[in-house]
Amino acid sequence: MKELPSDVKLVAVSKFHPAESIEAAYSAGQRVFAESRPQELEAKAGKLASLEGLEWQFIGHLQTNKLKMVLPYASLVQSVDSEHLLLAIDEWAGKNSRKVDVLLELHVAAEQTKQGFSEEDILDIMFRYFDARGGRGKLSNIRICGLMSMATNTDDESVIEADFARVQDFFLYLKDIFPELDEFRELSIGMSSDWPVAVRYGATMVRIGTAIFGDRIHTSSHTAGL
Ligand SMILES: *Cc1c(COP(=O)(O)O)cnc(C)c1O
Repeated sequence: MKELPSDVKLVAVSKFHPAESIEAAYSAGQRVFAESRPQELEAKAGKLASLEGLEWQFIGHLQTNKLKMVLPYASLVQSVDSEHLLLAIDEWAGKNSRKVDVLLELHVAAEQTKQGFSEEDILDIMFRYFDARGGRGKLSNIRICGLMSMATNTDDESVIEADFARVQDFFLYLKDIFPELDEFRELSIGMSSDWPVAVRYGATMVRIGTAIFGDRIHTSSHTAGL
């Protein structure tokens, strides 16, 4: 990962890897880690609580009944993919006297199985969020800090470029119509296979798992060995 520009934040995706691997990366200087399963985040955050300055983010699909496994630990929820979830996070934050930082996940990939909002949905949320600022009503307990997205899973770089170009265009469009929203500045695109392309399309953070930790071993009892 030597070539990553210094102004692009490296988020180390540690899902399915044991706490020891995270400690090794921490010793090498990495501070920001991301998980995609609530139970796994909660377990690792507990186990590694003594590592000073270690920051957790959440990047997986989040069900509203699991918020309490994630929100006490995550400094950023990157994967907000429904209005129901956004409102539930806002409500949790209000009840716990917190502000929770989130990214809205934009769906651009060809795979329908991937999660995320359409541009229209996000635009609608952004207008309501803008109006809610400074108040006490809905959407006043979150900070929408930018967009997250995944490109189509393909070897065809032109398809990946088209996906990231679409995300970047929409991100810049939103920044343009909401210049008052200083917090709206993160563009989280790029994983192990496509991060150099993402950097060319304005990524401010990349989410890298395999290229740091090696292949994930998927088993149904993946958290057992924590
Ligand atoms: C697993 C995951 C990554 C990291 O993927 P790699 O290909 O291992 O780098 C990035 N983003 C999300 C949302 C993920 O679930």
